Amino acid sequence: MSWKRTDKLMETIKHYSKFPATGVSLRQMVQFGEKPSTGTLFRASQFLSEELPIRLAHRVQELSELPDGLNEMPSIQRVTDWYAQSFEGQYKSAPGSSTTNGNGSSNGERKSGSARRYYVPADDGQGWPPELSQYNNQFRETLDRIKRRHDSVVTTVAQGILEWKRKRQRMQIDHNIQAFLDRFYMSRIGIRMLIGQHIALTDQRQRSDPNYVGIICTKTNVHDLAKEAIENARFVCEDHYGLFDAPKVQLVCNPDINFMYVPGHLSHMLFETLKNSLRAVVETHGQDKEEFPVTKVIVAEGKEDITIKITDEGGGIPRSAIPLVWTYMYTTVDQTPSLDPDFNKSDFKAPMAGFGYGLPISRLYARYFGGDLKLISMEGYGTDVYLHLNRLSSSSEPLQ
Ligand code: ADP
Ligand code: MG
Repeated sequence: MSWKRTDKLMETIKHYSKFPATGVSLRQMVQFGEKPSTGTLFRASQFLSEELPIRLAHRVQELSELPDGLNEMPSIQRVTDWYAQSFEGQYKSAPGSSTTNGNGSSNGERKSGSARRYYVPADDGQGWPPELSQYNNQFRETLDRIKRRHDSVVTTVAQGILEWKRKRQRMQIDHNIQAFLDRFYMSRIGIRMLIGQHIALTDQRQRSDPNYVGIICTKTNVHDLAKEAIENARFVCEDHYGLFDAPKVQLVCNPDINFMYVPGHLSHMLFETLKNSLRAVVETHGQDKEEFPVTKVIVAEGKEDITIKITDEGGGIPRSAIPLVWTYMYTTVDQTPSLDPDFNKSDFKAPMAGFGYGLPISRLYARYFGGDLKLISMEGYGTDVYLHLNRLSSSSEPLQ
């Protein structure tokens, strides 16, 4: 690991960070159709190779300017390096950059936004030059490397905040840091969405499921995803508390409801909120209870929204703690599970609770595509979580 940020690179990054990011909507992302041609993929690569450096540059700038010495914490430095390194890789792989045609922007100037609109695929002819397809494949590899490099960003930033809290003897993170984390993780969701979508589109040319465009499913079935999330959450709950049978969850949902969404995002939100409910139910009623009150998942389909309500009888949350549940690292678990930076790797076993990231990150996922996550509690009885999902799919990514 001998990679280092050079002054020259930092200057280029600073330059790029002055350009605004371009938001993309779910609808725009599916305009590719299921089987994009070589030419379409090339245009998509062009857009990304202009867009990603800008988004990465914003993050590097912001990380390096974090207040109060937070920017100097070793884990924050590591993350800054990852972003800068990915910036460098992207910047070099851009079509028309110095490495691809020898006369490009090696001195940190970017040419004015030729591809800075989200590509709308046009009809493609046949017979693309082989270099184009070769370029596409190379670009896909670069993206894959970036994605893997950033796998453990969330836990490493969390680690950085812990380092800083320890050093400064802080108990809670303040409004500034909370706002930074919201922006930072939201941006990460966006970057990973664009990268994940592009990789899946490139690979998709080999397989075919007519309901999928990249990682977007045009007919995401809410019932099936909810059922799976319930099973997973109950399994983790049984495992964690050593229960033979986790509290029951009743699903009230028309099995035909479907809409355009990223199934991975929806699964994440359902899994996190369900784990919270199951934990509250078990801990409120006691682990050795024979029977627990049933948690309900109710799905409603409107014109504008699909709303999912998760209702539990887990004792609720005191009103004074409600603002805290949205802050990162707020948890009522005494012992935080270890923040192993490799925790996102494939053999990772999802913890029941303890990072205090479940709710705030789920809310970001909901908001990313124009939805929201709300929570209403009745202290002494239970909690209702409302997950609103925008089904119009025309809202653009929230950037800042
Ligand atoms: P974690 O589950 O890792 O603690 P979350 O962000 O998912 O982090 O939740 C933060 C805190 O909010 C929990 O520790 C818990 O105290 C409270 N909470 C969340 N959901 C519920 C719920 N359904 N009932 C009671 N308390 C809840
Ligand atoms: Mg949780």
